[in-house]
Amino acid sequence: MNLRDISHPREGLVRIAAEFYRRGWMAGTAGNLSCRDPGDASSFWVTASGKAKGALTPEHFLLIDVAGGQVLEQGAPQNRPSAETAIHRALYRLFPDARACMHVHTVDACLAADRAQGDLLPLPPLEMLKGLGIWTEKPAVALPLFENHLDIGRIAEDIQQRFVHLPQVPAFLIRDHGITVWGESLEQAFHRTEIMEYILSYIARR
Ligand SMILES: [Zn+2]
Repeated sequence: MNLRDISHPREGLVRIAAEFYRRGWMAGTAGNLSCRDPGDASSFWVTASGKAKGALTPEHFLLIDVAGGQVLEQGAPQNRPSAETAIHRALYRLFPDARACMHVHTVDACLAADRAQGDLLPLPPLEMLKGLGIWTEKPAVALPLFENHLDIGRIAEDIQQRFVHLPQVPAFLIRDHGITVWGESLEQAFHRTEIMEYILSYIARR
């Protein structure tokens, strides 16, 4: 994935969405991607509601205020914020270092969540964990799991309440729904999403 020759991170998100769509991780209009505004970290760009993720353009994004949640720029007049914008906003409020966030609906994420113990999914000690910043011998790492709610605002509130401290890995699961992964750059968030999905696929096949 070449993200070096882009003039704005929205172009990078368009490429990433097309790739995730190709892999079946953003089927139809599912999922959403975001990044902080490069000139103002107090706001972030997020995909507009109901757009086909395999055919996005840089106009299909809204600029959202992190603190208040209001729309600062609409991208195009018909753009509406997705309810899932609340999940992205919660992460940017919690973690100042997060600059990009990927929320995708994958089959293996839903299957793997069924192996959770309570609200944590233990992760196998795979080599791939290094890509998520885990460098210990035989690591004991668990992925936070949240219950799914029709009211997405309720999921965002649960995230806000639970993540008083940084989780072990920069990701979480929502049961019967999908994964959310963040990073300090577009590239890092993209790679971490690939790694997380690899680990969840492994769990789902065991
Ligand atoms: Zn979702």
